[in-house]
Amino acid sequence: MKFLKTYIPSLILKVASRCNLNCSYCYLYNHLDNSYLEQPKFMSLKVLDKICDDLNEILLIKKHPIEITLHGGEPMLMKEEAFEAFIKKLKERLGNNLTSLSIQTNATLINSTFIKLIKQYQIGVSVSLDGTKESHDKFRLDHKGEGSYESTIKGIHKLISSGIDVNILCVIDPYTRGDSTYNAIKKIGVKRMSFLIPDVTHDSREKYYHLLPKYALANYLISLFIEWQKDHSGIRIRLFEDIISAILGGVPKTDLFGGNGLGYVIVESNGNYELLDALKVCYDGSTKHHKGNGTLLEFMNNVYNENGFTLWQKDYSAKCLQCRNFEVCKGGYLPHRYSDKNNFKNESVWCDDLYKLIDFIRLEVSKHLFPHETSLMIS
Ligand code: SF4
Repeated sequence: MKFLKTYIPSLILKVASRCNLNCSYCYLYNHLDNSYLEQPKFMSLKVLDKICDDLNEILLIKKHPIEITLHGGEPMLMKEEAFEAFIKKLKERLGNNLTSLSIQTNATLINSTFIKLIKQYQIGVSVSLDGTKESHDKFRLDHKGEGSYESTIKGIHKLISSGIDVNILCVIDPYTRGDSTYNAIKKIGVKRMSFLIPDVTHDSREKYYHLLPKYALANYLISLFIEWQKDHSGIRIRLFEDIISAILGGVPKTDLFGGNGLGYVIVESNGNYELLDALKVCYDGSTKHHKGNGTLLEFMNNVYNENGFTLWQKDYSAKCLQCRNFEVCKGGYLPHRYSDKNNFKNESVWCDDLYKLIDFIRLEVSKHLFPHETSLMIS
């Protein structure tokens, strides 16, 4: 009899392993892992069939809604007909069990056919845009070294003017301010924003952020939080929602902070199941911890084994275990804890910033809950 130890509800399909952009911070192409070179450029329908077989095997054991994100590289490098055939197969094979289908895109290749397909198949859209033109064009370059802001903004406007709700995924540029970034994104007319803390490890931070003043990331996020709080337009920011939820004793919905287990399975374009893709900033091959018969069931049962993700996640440093913000932060995002010397047994490389940010939000929550007290929730 087959059994399922751990169910991971979300799959990220790397439907295209290459990208038309070449962002300088990209963990796929510009850090330590070069395994994309061995991947087929696109995921085939045959590979997709095998993934659906695997999902249907799991559904026989545990009926549970499935969430799928089409990811890359850049998923819209797929030809429109291939894209539609792919979506049709997913819908046919998974039926009502597929409760959420979305795409993560740089929006530079959006055209009227993609827009029609997005609407027809009710695909959620998240666009990578790093806030202002200045920040975006600093990092998000094409292969000729030109900034991609204008093309991305054009794509976003096409989506919004077609009535499509867009989430903006912004990698934080800690050399700038969070409040002005918030307002630049809000001006576009979106209701959801996600902010990603830059992916570096203890070994690579110096290379990418050696000029960064102390607390620059915390100050960025605090100014973002203040602006977000002042604004009553209902914009959602997952990073802050997670911190507030953890302060109040809840469970964060994302893996932006540690302790939450593996939120999703990465499926490479050749159909291999892998761990959290941002771990590619740590070392070559860091996401490949899968041995066995190559099914999703086997992967889900073994990511929690002795060599697995959760063991890394629970290997907290002494500093974290003694930290008053541990219950909220849990050492931060797993890739940010890595060093060649200690593996994942470190505090986050962004520790000082996380500590300051969590203290700040804790105080804001306490002021909100207990407006007449002066020093609650920080001891
Ligand atoms: S704030 Fe720093 S010490 Fe505290 S849990 Fe987070 S990473 Fe660890």
